[in-house]
Amino acid sequence: MSQFTAFAGKRPSWSEQLRTAGRRVTKQRLAVLTAVETHPHSTAESILEAARQELPALSTQAVYVVLGDLTELGMLRRFEPPQSPALYETRVKDNHHHAVCTRCGRVEDVDCAVGHAPCLEPHWNDSQKPMTIQIADVLYQGICQDCLAAQAAE
Ligand SMILES: [Zn+2]
Ligand SMILES: [Zn+2]
Ligand SMILES: [Zn+2]
Repeated sequence: MSQFTAFAGKRPSWSEQLRTAGRRVTKQRLAVLTAVETHPHSTAESILEAARQELPALSTQAVYVVLGDLTELGMLRRFEPPQSPALYETRVKDNHHHAVCTRCGRVEDVDCAVGHAPCLEPHWNDSQKPMTIQIADVLYQGICQDCLAAQAAE
């Protein structure tokens, strides 16, 4: 079963999404989208490496341009854990959060308990001018099982 049939019914194909967004369906865009989909939470550098397996002529510059554009279109989500370059993923628009291991940088998705943004509402005091909150960025930081096991073995 190809990845496209796997997602059939779940969401439109990359080509359809690109056309809907007014973008031409190019080999570069498809290679980047496929690379991010198969390697979620990847840096631009590892996406470049993965996409080059499919498209050896792909330039670094092209990958950065495509990543920026697709992120702006909302087809990719970009997030920046502390002390890490930006990471990209194709899981968008569900307001999920991330848990990051502070030792090795491993990233796991965490479903939003509320399911929609903003999942946290601030409590404003009388001296403040309340804002309409659109997003609450929640980042869980901890230690992954592998790092805990390595620590226990020391
Ligand atoms: Zn770890
Ligand atoms: Zn994620
Ligand atoms: Zn949440």
